[in-house]
Amino acid sequence: MDYLPIFLDIKQRDCLVIGGGEIAARKAGLLLKANAKVTIISPAISSSTQALVDDNKLTWLESVFKPEQLADITLVIAATDIEAVNRDVYQHAKAQQILVNVADSPDLCDFILPSILDRSPIVIAVSSGGASPILARQLRARLETLIPQTYGNLANLVGRYRDAVKEKLPTLSLRRRFWESTLQGEVATHVLAGRDDIAERVLKSTLAEVKTDELDKGEVYLVGAGPGDPELLTFKALRLMQQADVVFYDRLVSKEVLALVRREAEMIYVGKQRDWHSVRQEEINQLLLKHAQQGKRVLRLKGGDPFIFGRGGEEIETLAAENIPFQVVPGITAASGCSTYAGIPLTHRDYSQSCTFVTGQLKKGELDLNWSALVQPRQTIVVYMGLAGLPVLSKQLQKHGLPANTPAALVQQGTTSHQQVWISTIEGLPALAEKEKPVAPTLVIIGHVVTLHNSLAWF
Ligand code: SAH
Repeated sequence: MDYLPIFLDIKQRDCLVIGGGEIAARKAGLLLKANAKVTIISPAISSSTQALVDDNKLTWLESVFKPEQLADITLVIAATDIEAVNRDVYQHAKAQQILVNVADSPDLCDFILPSILDRSPIVIAVSSGGASPILARQLRARLETLIPQTYGNLANLVGRYRDAVKEKLPTLSLRRRFWESTLQGEVATHVLAGRDDIAERVLKSTLAEVKTDELDKGEVYLVGAGPGDPELLTFKALRLMQQADVVFYDRLVSKEVLALVRREAEMIYVGKQRDWHSVRQEEINQLLLKHAQQGKRVLRLKGGDPFIFGRGGEEIETLAAENIPFQVVPGITAASGCSTYAGIPLTHRDYSQSCTFVTGQLKKGELDLNWSALVQPRQTIVVYMGLAGLPVLSKQLQKHGLPANTPAALVQQGTTSHQQVWISTIEGLPALAEKEKPVAPTLVIIGHVVTLHNSLAWF
């Protein structure tokens, strides 16, 4: 970070703007919005600045810049079109430790003015660190469309009820829960739709009826994190990730996804190793239970979809038995993510009318699969956890009648920037793996749809 973003209280503080043109007027206007006492210094001023002077909004000193004018000034902005003057202002301000900004000269700035989205009291500032103000402005424009005009009213309402909530709910964690649920529900809907009165009534009655023991209850969110690309998360996943107290995640959850979890949450890695699966699973079930019983909001974040080869069912069985509330959020499963990002439609009118997901995990060196069902024509087979068992898979499929030249793909780290796709046939899979040495996570896709990769690969 090249700059520290801070919001400065400059109410009634003396600030100078050097320059009388339009840019200077804009900067002065900004300072006025934050209720600063603004003086403009310039031999002449534009008509818009003159209007502000006439309105007694700011003072105009009809003068060239002189260093002594900096006495008792908090902050100065130079926006003349004479470079020497701007530099002079910068040097004198610097010498006196006064915060200084020279318009359009990032190297002559102690602070820069961000693009601002104003939903007072909510203010969002966007900065590109001087690299591209236009980019920052475009980003601001996007935010502008996302954040309703009425958002500030919501903040005002919360501000008015802060003390009342504090009185009723003694701990920080209770208050956080109260606000998180209130601000996502009915109250927010009413405010954003402009129905402030109804919103306030609902807020009042919610607060009157709130039960601390219910707010304090632990809960578990079993959330699918998708195959890797963070943009494939659901809105719901993101929301619950933002309100968790503790997070249990495994190897498949990408760094980019983890970066979106609430920053204050405790992060606990429970990645499993292939050979001691079952022991660890019981331990994880107990961990989720224990933390929820302590009243925490526990996020169990799993790669892909929690109910597809994710043992999500087992984890919530324990919770259900102990009456711990839980929610499950589906995620984009590897089959869906990897096939899409590899340009391989799982079904296609010309090639495949059904699709089967199977686990390729070996049991005592063998694969316990329903082979006759798998080798049916016009079917796509997706094999999860299939790397170690590739030779067995290849041999058995052929033995049960699938033609040796049936197309097959390996997709490694699908949907991420490291995605790799290799195309072969079921006969060629073992040799391909031998040569390319793919690593987990890798998905196997088998069937004629694989040939579409040649024309449809887009990622
Ligand atoms: N619940 C997960 C699957 C867990 S099993 C889901 O719905 O996707 C783990 C297997 O999923 C891996 O061995 C691999 O075969 C597959 N997998 C998961 N993410 C993957 C990715 N990004 N790229 C390729 N394969 C992936």
